[in-house]
Amino acid sequence: MPRHAILTSRRACIVGLASCFWPVTAMAQAPPRAPFVIAGHAVPGGQRMHVDLPVAASASDPATTVPVTVFHGAHPGQVLAITTGVHGYEFAPILAAQALLDRIDPSTLRGTVVLVRLAHVEAFEQRVPYVNPYDRKNLNRTFPGRADGTQTERIAWASAPRSWHAATCTSKSTAATAPSGSRRSRASMAASWPQVRTCQRASMTLRRINSG
Ligand SMILES: [Zn+2]
Repeated sequence: MPRHAILTSRRACIVGLASCFWPVTAMAQAPPRAPFVIAGHAVPGGQRMHVDLPVAASASDPATTVPVTVFHGAHPGQVLAITTGVHGYEFAPILAAQALLDRIDPSTLRGTVVLVRLAHVEAFEQRVPYVNPYDRKNLNRTFPGRADGTQTERIAWASAPRSWHAATCTSKSTAATAPSGSRRSRASMAASWPQVRTCQRASMTLRRINSG
């Protein structure tokens, strides 16, 4: 039950004793959590799902996918997105994302974690540092991207949906993009994630996940 609903019902207790029993009944009969929908897949509350975000082909370069894992917690809370492999040749955070898979338990999680396990599959597979092998663009400088752009722009568009409303933090081997990254990078990420919160907040959430 939303916190504001509890507060409202407590105020109702002042008006009449009978209404004091309402929150207890409502909490006991709380409806199941709404699924988290991403790329047409509905992830039920308390479950984990691997999803490949589709990136369609264009006239100039091929289709690809962005593999993500969604942990939709059993309990309501914020959405945290963690993005790795923006530079597909930087392996450490990609491996860290793999290690994180078994450390997040959606059955006890409060909120939702969207783990972008490898944002730049083409660069990873072809071992190209920093830029996309087809259009030579830097994904880290391309957010929020374009649905009808070159492959790098389409990857950026697919991997940062505005509808997630997530706190976000790109996990890179060099440094966290925000707040210690370049101003341009932070601005491009903020444009991509309208409700962006700071990387420090994301780090705190991650520490809670890891310690809890
Ligand atoms: Zn990098």
